[in-house]
Amino acid sequence: MTNFDELLFEPGTVWLVGAGPGDPGLLTLHAVTGLKQADVIVHDALVSDHVLLLASPKARREFAGKRGGRPSHSQSDISLRLIALAKEGLRVLRLKGGDPFVFGRGGEEALALAEAGIRFRIVPGITAGIGGLAYVGIPATSRETNQALVLVAGHPAADGEDRVNWEALGALGQPLAIYMGLSRLREIGARLIAGGLVPETRLAIVTDASLPSQNVVETTLAAAMDHYREAHASAPTLVVVGAIVDLRHALLASLISP
Ligand code: SAH
Repeated sequence: MTNFDELLFEPGTVWLVGAGPGDPGLLTLHAVTGLKQADVIVHDALVSDHVLLLASPKARREFAGKRGGRPSHSQSDISLRLIALAKEGLRVLRLKGGDPFVFGRGGEEALALAEAGIRFRIVPGITAGIGGLAYVGIPATSRETNQALVLVAGHPAADGEDRVNWEALGALGQPLAIYMGLSRLREIGARLIAGGLVPETRLAIVTDASLPSQNVVETTLAAAMDHYREAHASAPTLVVVGAIVDLRHALLASLISP
């Protein structure tokens, strides 16, 4: 170990911590330090059991999040709960899959804490759209294929309105990592194609990235739109669209994974 300083988790504060895509080895040292000191861990469904095993056995666990895609707690309930626990003088660790600020609503929780005058720390995590891809041998960028990677949510915002200009993304000529997109793949694909993306564009469906159950299906945009018309995966799934998908073929023979 070098000169890594373990942070002190002060009572009455909240840590918003990213748990990464699932493999506990992808947690940061700060996340592990927090898990060891926390009095209460408020976690969502995406956080794997393997990660929760690193918590202190004395820590109380509270589930807050979505089950089967349906919210079981409203966002304001969760924020109020974090505030109440902190006001009890507890060390509150809010644990989220991936990175707390990437489609994780960590921003809303941080804002609620700030408004309530509760001090908090953000511990970033490895987001699925980058670390999850790496685990299946798909580099986020490569000089031969792309200058950008778009991280985009396929699921509309809370008010149900999809504000993404998918046609423009189809015209962009750069790969997409689509979170929460499988169930809307047909509609999203049609709009990407309307924007100019060719139907034969390579596509990968990556499920449970970095977990023992990790799975990848490689296909094309057109075939996936047909095949996954009614798909509602219960496991977390990323849809990767673009030439970066093919880069894994040269790596697979030697890639140790997961
Ligand atoms: N904050 C998280 C994303 C939360 S949104 C992050 O930064 O990764 C939830 C979506 O993330 C899932 O529907 C899925 O699209 C993606 N996701 C999270 N973990 C994943 C995993 N292990 N494998 C594949 N996709 C994952």
